[in-house]
Amino acid sequence: MKKLPKTDVVVIGLGWAGSIIAKELADEGLEVIGIERGPWRDTARDFNVATVTDELRYVMREELMLRTRQNTCTMRNNPSQTALPMRTWGSFHPGNGTGGAGNHWAGITFRFQPEEFRLKSHLTERYGANAIPDELVLQDWGTTWEEMEPHYMQFERVAGTSGYAANLNGEKRAGGNPFEGMRSGDYPTPPLRQPYGPTLFAEAAKNMGYQPFPVPSSLVSEAYTNPYGVTMGPCTFCGFCTNYGCANYSKASAITTVLPALMRKENFTAYTNCEVLEVLTDSSGKKATGVTYIDSSGDKWEQPADLVIVAAFTFENVRLMLLSKIGEAYDPVTNRGTTGRNYAYQTANGVTLFFDNKNFNPFIGAGAVGMGIDEFNNDNFDHSGLGFLGGGSIRVTPIGSAPIGYRPVPPNTPKWGSQWKRAVKDNYLSTMSIGCEASSYTTRTNYLSLDPNYSDPHGRPLLRITFDFAENDLKMAQYCTGKVAEIAQSMNPRQIVAKPMSGHWNSVPYQSSHVVGGFIMGADPSTSSVNKHLQVWDVPNLFVVGASAFPQNPGYNPTGTVGALAFKAAHAIRHYYLKRPGEMITA
Ligand SMILES: Cc1cc2nc3c(=O)[nH]c(=O)nc-3n(C[C@H](O)[C@H](O)[C@H](O)COP(=O)(O)OP(=O)(O)OC[C@H]3O[C@@H](n4cnc5c(N)ncnc54)[C@H](O)[C@@H]3O)c2cc1C
Ligand code: SF4
Repeated sequence: MKKLPKTDVVVIGLGWAGSIIAKELADEGLEVIGIERGPWRDTARDFNVATVTDELRYVMREELMLRTRQNTCTMRNNPSQTALPMRTWGSFHPGNGTGGAGNHWAGITFRFQPEEFRLKSHLTERYGANAIPDELVLQDWGTTWEEMEPHYMQFERVAGTSGYAANLNGEKRAGGNPFEGMRSGDYPTPPLRQPYGPTLFAEAAKNMGYQPFPVPSSLVSEAYTNPYGVTMGPCTFCGFCTNYGCANYSKASAITTVLPALMRKENFTAYTNCEVLEVLTDSSGKKATGVTYIDSSGDKWEQPADLVIVAAFTFENVRLMLLSKIGEAYDPVTNRGTTGRNYAYQTANGVTLFFDNKNFNPFIGAGAVGMGIDEFNNDNFDHSGLGFLGGGSIRVTPIGSAPIGYRPVPPNTPKWGSQWKRAVKDNYLSTMSIGCEASSYTTRTNYLSLDPNYSDPHGRPLLRITFDFAENDLKMAQYCTGKVAEIAQSMNPRQIVAKPMSGHWNSVPYQSSHVVGGFIMGADPSTSSVNKHLQVWDVPNLFVVGASAFPQNPGYNPTGTVGALAFKAAHAIRHYYLKRPGEMITA
């Protein structure tokens, strides 16, 4: 192994979280090296308008995703089972290369609600401690809405997020999400124009007394130049959005909003096609000294650094901490240890509506255009006597129906032949769906650990996921999907098909890439891994940033909060840590 000269900062992973921190610390004048497992990606070359609308390449063959032969996870539903490796991605679609999963994300950019950051305290105050089901291990985040809000603002300004503020500095405005916390500034760009499906849904929801709002979206609605000086163009609803890169510089990602500015800085260097193997610590275990990585030629290197930032997505953040023996591995039997605990997912539900006489032009769409309601999300409704906690964001977001994958047909249609063809023809234009992306609450037996049986090409154990849906979440799914079905019925379709999440978690169908937890934030080192600055307890020059820090998952998409946490960590390093290196909070 060859040893390189020491740098001020090494950042592992150049997706949203890593790129933001690298940019903020490079602006501080520090020498920053970013190490990225996948290739360098660039809009003009990789997402060229002439080649990017290739469903076979990007959706079926998963061009932008991590190759499972390089690294994958093993999965099981409970600790008594033997986990097996995922050999193709199904359930989730991890990214690889500069920009990370932010290249092929959809762009829905919610802020979490103020209560979320003190969820356990909030629910206890409202319903009493006994109302929290025994199976759940909910926690407060150790931070507050007031501390998060300025950093949500920073992320939205970098991403050019489009939307309509319902609560602007305390001024309540009709037309936005009435459940959103108070904002210190408006969305940087106005809401996107709405296609037909979301418009119909919003009318129906309004007629039932709900308050529909445009889904906040990091697909910009007009030309926009962000605070880093990077310009984006308005979305054209091309319909090749989720799972694709954007040819149009309209979908915010690290490669469209951060890296163009970062790459101009002489004190930043990116190593691509280089996989970090381990975070190194000194003999005390309380100081990170750098990382080791392997390059595309198979050579191993040591990169020493004063400050180490891990931003390698939920799974790899946790795996690197376990492999580097940082923190104590969680044990569900003894309930001891913090690395790996509080892993959660998202509970995906939906209702499909088949009409006879409507034309939705489903090929027009974008990953994050749509209308939603939040009356049945999180704790926005009274849960007394319902037997569950949590809820979901109900919305219509037509992502664009590409030619191979989109074939909506009613149940019991034959799977091939002339009847199937007729059903496709009859339903392609006139079908829409209402989704309900719902919360996932943590349990004692849902956790991440190193697999004892399977390893990657370098001989290191794969990450093992032990997960099944909590009973709480399955009850919530039934209830919320019932509410969606009521709205759907009021729209008078020929037929509706409701699909609440049910049964065991299955890694085969795609559900959501919103995997959270495993290296969570909190105020108590015995139940959390990082403090509210994303600084690892007991290893003050190490920060682990991403959705791995969420103690549970609300009924929202995570990336607005991932971006806000990245800015929050960078702010703490710039304003407190660099002035007085060491623990910023003592337990
Ligand atoms: C299809 C899809 C749709 C989505 N839609 C939405 C949405 O609408 N709204 C929303 O909020 N979220 C959405 N998400 C989730 C969103 O993409 C993630 O929350 C976000 O990308 C997380 O950013 P990150 O920087 O933490 O991780 P990533 O974007 O995954 O970046 C991590 C980077 O680290 C690199 N890396 C990993 N391990 C190593 C290693 N050992 N050494 C070096 N580098 C490493 C990876 O290659 C990657 O580039 C979606 C995700 C997918 C896949
Ligand atoms: S729908 Fe809009 S943001 Fe998405 S890829 Fe097309 S132009 Fe880009």
